[in-house]
Amino acid sequence: MNKNPYEVLGVARDATDADIKKAYHKLVMKYHPDKNPGDKSAEEKFKEVNNAFDILKDPQKRAAYDRFGDAAFAGGNSASAGAGNPFGNGFGGFGGGAGMDDILREAMRGFGFDGFGGFGGAHNAGVQRGRDLLDTITISLRDAYFGTTHTVKFSSNVACDKCNGNGTDDGKPAPNCSRCGGSGYVHARQGFFAVETPCPECNGTGHKISKKCSKCDGTGVQHKQRTLEVKIPAGIMDGARLRLPGQGEAGMFGADAGDFYIDVRVTPDDKFERDGNDLIVKVDVPFTTLALGGNIDVKTIDDKELSVKVPSGTQIGSRLRVRGKGMPNSRGGFGDMYIEIMMSVPTKLTEKQKKALEEFAGAKSSKKSGWF
Ligand SMILES: [Zn+2]
Ligand SMILES: [Zn+2]
Repeated sequence: MNKNPYEVLGVARDATDADIKKAYHKLVMKYHPDKNPGDKSAEEKFKEVNNAFDILKDPQKRAAYDRFGDAAFAGGNSASAGAGNPFGNGFGGFGGGAGMDDILREAMRGFGFDGFGGFGGAHNAGVQRGRDLLDTITISLRDAYFGTTHTVKFSSNVACDKCNGNGTDDGKPAPNCSRCGGSGYVHARQGFFAVETPCPECNGTGHKISKKCSKCDGTGVQHKQRTLEVKIPAGIMDGARLRLPGQGEAGMFGADAGDFYIDVRVTPDDKFERDGNDLIVKVDVPFTTLALGGNIDVKTIDDKELSVKVPSGTQIGSRLRVRGKGMPNSRGGFGDMYIEIMMSVPTKLTEKQKKALEEFAGAKSSKKSGWF
C-alpha cells in the first residue's frame, strides 16, 4: 500500500481515466498469476497494480491520495499524522484527528476491506512514505497580485546523510527481506480470512540490515533544521493549496518522502473587492461629472494612476469596466477592473454654487422630469 499508485501504473499525475485504464490492463496482463505460476515477485506486482488501480479509478480516492498521500489509506500513518508537526497544524489539524479518521474510514470502506484486519494498519511504519507537512500563510491582495516568496523554517526528518537514508553501515540499499520479498508483510490464513501481518523476519521494514548505520541507528532518517523558499504564484486564490512533492518528511528505511503543502489565505483588501480574477473598486464621482460626463482618476491595484472616461448620464451604482486591470489569471492574462460608481455629496457650498443648484432644481421642477 505504500507505493505511489501513479508510479506503480507508470502514469503521470494528470493522467486521464482512459490512460489509467490502459496502463492497468497492460500491467495486469503482464503480472497475472496464471501467466507467472509460482513467481512471488510477479504476484507482488499484481497486487500492487490492483491496489494502485483501486485508488486511481475512483475520483474520490484519487483526490484523497492527491491531497493526503498514503496517509489517506494507511492506518499506521493516520495515528501519527500531525503529531510532532513543526507547525502544530499538521494533517491532524484538518478539523482535528477526527477528520483524518473520517477520511481513513471512507477509504477503508471504499476498499471493501472492513473484514480484513490486516489492511493498512498492520503495515509497519518502516516501509511507509514520510509524513506530509502543512503550513498556512496569509498574504495581502497586493502580494497575490504580484506573487511573492514565502520562507518556511522548520525541523523535520530528512534522509540520514551518512547512509543516504538506507540505514546501513556501508550506505548501500539494504537487501530485501527474503521472507516477505520486501513488502514488509506476510499472509496468513485465519479460518475463512486471509490476513496480512507484519513480517516477523524484518519487523515489517521489508529490509534486512545486517549492520546498522551508527548515525541513525538504522532508521535511515535524522532530524534536521530546514528552510524552504516557496514561490507563491501571481494571481493565487484565497484558499488555494500548493503542493511541494517530496518536501515533507523523509520516509524511514529509504521509503519515499512525504509532500509539503501550503495553504494560502488572501486577506480582503479595504479598497479592492475580488471576484475571481476581476477587481471591483468603488469610486466617488462628483454629481456634475456623472451628469455632464468627464474623466476621473482611478488608482489600479499596482498603484498606477488611470484616467477613465465617465459618459454623461452615468448612474450611481453602475459599473465601468476597465479591461486587463484585474488580477493575473492562470493563462498569463489578467481579469478586468470594474469601477463601481458612487457619488460624493458636497457638504460645503459657496453662495455661487448654492445658487446654481437652486436654479438647477427650479429648472427641473418646471420641466417635471430630470435628475432629482
Ligand atoms: Zn520481511
Ligand atoms: Zn544513517
